[in-house]
Amino acid sequence: MKTIYLVIPCYNEEEVLFETSKRLKEKFNYLIDRKVISEKSRIAFVDDGSKDNTWSIIEKLNKEDNIFSGIKLSRNRGHQNALLAGLMTVKDHCDAVISLDADLQDDINVIDKFIEKFYEGCDVVYGVRSERKTDTIFKRTTAQAFYKMMKTLGVDIVYNHADYRLMSKRALDALADFKEVNLFLRGIVPLIGYKSDIVLYERNERFAGESKYPLKKMLSFAFEGITSFSVKPIRLILTVGIIMFISSLIALLYFLVLWAIGRTVQGWTTVVASIWMLGGIQLLCLGIIGEYIGKIYIESKARPKFIIDKFINN
Ligand code: UDP
Ligand code: MG
Repeated sequence: MKTIYLVIPCYNEEEVLFETSKRLKEKFNYLIDRKVISEKSRIAFVDDGSKDNTWSIIEKLNKEDNIFSGIKLSRNRGHQNALLAGLMTVKDHCDAVISLDADLQDDINVIDKFIEKFYEGCDVVYGVRSERKTDTIFKRTTAQAFYKMMKTLGVDIVYNHADYRLMSKRALDALADFKEVNLFLRGIVPLIGYKSDIVLYERNERFAGESKYPLKKMLSFAFEGITSFSVKPIRLILTVGIIMFISSLIALLYFLVLWAIGRTVQGWTTVVASIWMLGGIQLLCLGIIGEYIGKIYIESKARPKFIIDKFINN
């Protein structure tokens, strides 16, 4: 029997915690009774520097029943950091961790399937939304555009997967080797590799309280995601630079022809030619410098170069 921990980041979630804890406890007790998971399994809430009563509720839950654990961050650090804090804190106490949101938008009935796949030997199980009926059209289209853009930029992320996933202890140990500060878990977890699978589920509406992800946070999240994984935007500058430079050469030729046949005002050729040439050269140089900065950027992350799945040595 394996020990499974749930990790739930909470930011100002007093409105949902009672209901959430009740439902999760039911689920876990059911799994423990059926001997699917060990009785050392826990439901761990991470308080991400909430300003309301979230932490006192977590403390109270823990007092009433030790199936609940609590982790309190010193201040608000955002969902991704809170999640990582939770994962890294509990990983040595269990065999696998399932992360989910406090508002239970993710269907908790698929937890059984996550655990089933884990027993079948998967190290990572991704929860994937089968549809997005309950999201607003705006959220749906922007999210979809985001996934498409990430794919084009060469970032390997699982389509329609948020942070509802199971990770084995071994996968978490590998995650700990990613030293970067700008954290975008959805992009990193696929990089870990190991055997993985997906489980489909339908996403519900938040049953109480409001989204802690306003548009501003969503945009900065998307921007973080792109810039933490891809140097393609820098390469774009280089491409534009090259195009500009080549067109400036063509333009120069054209200006010279105009000048030769005497169809220009005096001084005009020199002025336009310099504008085009200098602009092109500048962008080209910026692009080249950018390439080097991109390399420094990637190096400075000090990501692990490989993660070994199996080692057979008889
Ligand atoms: N959250 C967090 N820190 C933050 C913002 C959000 O820990 O700074 C948590 C929040 O409590 C919830 C999860 O992240 O458990 C997802 O947030 P939310 O449900 O508001 O996002 P949405 O589902 O609207 O994208
Ligand atoms: Mg939510």
